Amino acid sequence: MDSWPIGVFASVDAGLGVAWDVISDLKLPTIQLHAPHQEKRNRESAAAFRSQLDAMNVRCTAVFGGFEGESYADIPTVVRTVGLVPESTRHSRLKEMLEIADFSSWLGCDTVALHLGFIPHDPSADGYGDIVSVTQQLCEHCGQQGQFLHLETGQETAEGLIEFIQQVGRENLKINFDPANMILYGTGEPIEALMQVGQHVRSVHCKDGTWSDQPGVTWGAEVPLGQGDVGMEKYLQALKEIGYLGPLTIEREIPQDPERQRAEIAQAIELLTDLRSKILD
Ligand code: MG
Repeated sequence: MDSWPIGVFASVDAGLGVAWDVISDLKLPTIQLHAPHQEKRNRESAAAFRSQLDAMNVRCTAVFGGFEGESYADIPTVVRTVGLVPESTRHSRLKEMLEIADFSSWLGCDTVALHLGFIPHDPSADGYGDIVSVTQQLCEHCGQQGQFLHLETGQETAEGLIEFIQQVGRENLKINFDPANMILYGTGEPIEALMQVGQHVRSVHCKDGTWSDQPGVTWGAEVPLGQGDVGMEKYLQALKEIGYLGPLTIEREIPQDPERQRAEIAQAIELLTDLRSKILD
C-alpha cells in the first residue's frame, strides 16, 4: 500500500459522512464507513457494498459504529448520550456493536471504531470498571475475527486515553486520532496529544477546528481543513514522526449542505496531496 492514501468518511444511510454516490466522484483509494442502519447490516448487503467498492477500486479501512439516541448538541449532552458509557443503553449498544463488527468483517474490513463516550478520568471513579469490562468484551469479539477496535479521540485527554487502554489491556485496542476533536472538546493541544498517544494510533481523521472561548464547556467550531487551529503541516509532520503511514481520512461533518461538503472535501484533498508530497518525498 502507498503511504498516506487519502480517504473520506462516508455514509450509506446514517452518520455525517459524504453520500455513497459521491465516493466514486472523489476518486480516492480509501474510505471509512459509518455503519448503516440495522436492516442493512446483513451478509447480503455487506456483499453488495463490497462489490460496489471493488468496482470503484476503493478500500474500506474502518467501519464506525453510531447509535440511535446519540446527540452532539453540546458537551453535557454528549456526556449523557454518546457511546457505551451511558448505563441504560450500554447492553443494547454492545449487542449492536458486535453486529457492526460482524458486518465489518463481511465487508472484508479489519477495523471497527466508535466514540466510546466520556470515560471518567479517574480509574477509581464509579462505573469505570464496567466501561473497561464492556470494552474488553467488544475487543474479544473483534479479536476472534482478526479485527481491531479503534477509539475515536476527543472526549479524553491523552493521559486519560492511555490510562484507559492500559486498564482494558487488549492488544487489538487502538486509537483513531482526530486532531480537531481535541480542540472542539477542549481536551488538549492536538500535536502534543498525538506525540503522547502515538504508539496506539492505527487510523486518523483529517479535520480542522477552532478553540472555544470556554474550552471543555462549549464547543469549538469545525472549519474547512487548513483554516483551523490544528496546523495541517505540523500535523502530518507529527504523523510521520510517530511512524504513521496509513490512510488520511478526511472528515467534514456538514451533511446538511452536501454541495459545500463536497467542495470543501475537494480542497482538503488538494491540500493533503500537496503536503504529502512535500513531507514524504
Ligand atoms: Mg473524527
